[in-house]
Amino acid sequence: METCASRRLSHLLLSLRTKYIILKKIISIMDEEKIISEGKCLYCSKTISQQGFTRHIATHFKLMQAQMPSSQTALHIVVSAGSYFLHLLAPATTSLKTIDSFLRKIWLECCGHMSAFSNGRWGDDIGITRKLGDAFNMKNKIVYRYDFGSTTELQVEVKGAYKIATAGILLISRNEPLAIMCNSCQQEPATTICAVHVYDEGEGWYCNNCAAGHEKVCEDFADYAKMPVVNSPRTGECAYDGGSVDIERDGVYKNKQN
Ligand SMILES: [Zn+2]
Ligand SMILES: [Zn+2]
Ligand SMILES: [Zn+2]
Ligand SMILES: [Zn+2]
Repeated sequence: METCASRRLSHLLLSLRTKYIILKKIISIMDEEKIISEGKCLYCSKTISQQGFTRHIATHFKLMQAQMPSSQTALHIVVSAGSYFLHLLAPATTSLKTIDSFLRKIWLECCGHMSAFSNGRWGDDIGITRKLGDAFNMKNKIVYRYDFGSTTELQVEVKGAYKIATAGILLISRNEPLAIMCNSCQQEPATTICAVHVYDEGEGWYCNNCAAGHEKVCEDFADYAKMPVVNSPRTGECAYDGGSVDIERDGVYKNKQN
């Protein structure tokens, strides 16, 4: 029976070692196979590409503002890490603390790590009690980091300000699960990561069938190194196994023909 501390330590060591490789793998998958990232629009249910989403949603916001102008200001915020993205609408008076808590729930929380918003460089932090409306301070982009060991870094951008009434943070869209396929059979979507074998080029991401096979040849996988693929830039990091809100879109990619 492993102790909690040694388990955490092995997780930490593993995640430090795997972090770069997982990132490299995701980037190389995206480069080679041009992973398409797209999200459904909350207002019209259309599926829109990551590149086109800001322009698309702006037309909804402008119409809402014209039809029912509010005295309140709401900001259109895009949070992203590569092909992973969230489009949010939030009152300008929302504190960074509230945004932090939302990001933890949807994308990040594994074991209560520290986090910070910053102007970009490490240490150049923006106070967590600041309101969204003044946190950007003439810039339109800030950085958010969760976990200062095995860090997940997100870009937080303001794309527009509208006179629209909204209570709390509204999730306008997020990327649908990305088409990351099994390294072994190349046919089925990857559902599981082996945190040990992910170091080897073209290994470590498995579908359900191939994961069962890998379990027979990899003791570490059977023991502790099995991690779920989830729809988050924290996939494969630390002990992260998925969000606690919007769970239906937190799964893995589904083959279109299935
Ligand atoms: Zn729409
Ligand atoms: Zn953790
Ligand atoms: Zn497979
Ligand atoms: Zn393995």
